[in-house]
Amino acid sequence: MTADPPLPPGATPGPPTEGPGTDRPPPRTPLAHLPTPAVSADRLAAALGLPEGSLWIKHDDLTGIAGGGNKVRKLEFLASAALAEGADTLVTGGGRQSNHVRLTAAVANRLGLAATVVLASDPPERPTGNVVLDEVLGPELVWAGDLGYYALEDAIAATADRLAGEGRQPYRIHVGGASAVGALGYLHAAAELDAQVPGEPLVVVADGSGGTHAGLVAGFGDHARVLGVDVGTRPDLDDAVPAMAAATAALAGRPAPAGDVQVDHDRVGPGYGAPSDACREALDLAARHEAALLDPVYTGKGLAGLVAAVRDGRIDGTRPTVFLHTGGLPALFSPRYADWVRRP
Ligand SMILES: *Cc1c(COP(=O)(O)O)cnc(C)c1O
Repeated sequence: MTADPPLPPGATPGPPTEGPGTDRPPPRTPLAHLPTPAVSADRLAAALGLPEGSLWIKHDDLTGIAGGGNKVRKLEFLASAALAEGADTLVTGGGRQSNHVRLTAAVANRLGLAATVVLASDPPERPTGNVVLDEVLGPELVWAGDLGYYALEDAIAATADRLAGEGRQPYRIHVGGASAVGALGYLHAAAELDAQVPGEPLVVVADGSGGTHAGLVAGFGDHARVLGVDVGTRPDLDDAVPAMAAATAALAGRPAPAGDVQVDHDRVGPGYGAPSDACREALDLAARHEAALLDPVYTGKGLAGLVAAVRDGRIDGTRPTVFLHTGGLPALFSPRYADWVRRP
């Protein structure tokens, strides 16, 4: 069985994915540079009025392959499952500036596999940001036009079917690598983080597909340890994250996580990828106090969620907080943000 969250009413399920191997956890295919650094962010803590030593940044932007980011940890397990199935092509998709697409193409290259990626966008006039890196890495690019989250999943499934019809052995990967197999990467990251930061910290993370959040919760065994910040990728995080967390824990032979999912839905701003003032403030805070470079789609809104939680007292420094830096810097070089980043 797949670890897919329940589909919302009206959505159609695609063909089964990640076939054999999902009832037993696949091994890890080492690709990331681990452990990633966890650094104390005392200058940012002071700027927010938090006590010294209570705020950390875990640098999963430094997972070390083709620009890095959180998707590498998921792809270590997804690639293992693909190889175990005898696949020759990784198939996935994302938005035009998808980091997941870039990193899936990168992982395919490292493993000698082909990659086909579906982009939920019209082709840009010229490549910028992640699309530059997609062109350099060289996967087959399928420009599918503007698509919602589940329509994109359907387009990925149709593309996998097309490749199978051409005699290829495709391995379909969900948007964001969001499945129990992919989330195993973050089940392991939870233990890595606890070995670096004492005191059972709260982890704040930008939620796109929710797989990172789900894997962390499965690893910690408790929803109270993770605050996800919705960036507007998918409409059903409140259901998808706990379902995926439970499935990931089950796949790893762990008990179902305790507690209730925590998602902040108030930092999306005008929409997925659309700039907001709170995101800009977070970008500036991270850059000017910690020289940490955030992105406008995910990590800027993620840190904005942390800042809001400090300001309304949900985070007060009595227990440590870790901001998970999930990468995403290439999108900052998209012309969409050129005027937004300019100083007033
Ligand atoms: C994909 C992505 C996220 C969100 O991760 P999910 O596991 O999809 O929720 C956060 N930050 C960056 C930079 C990403 O590329």
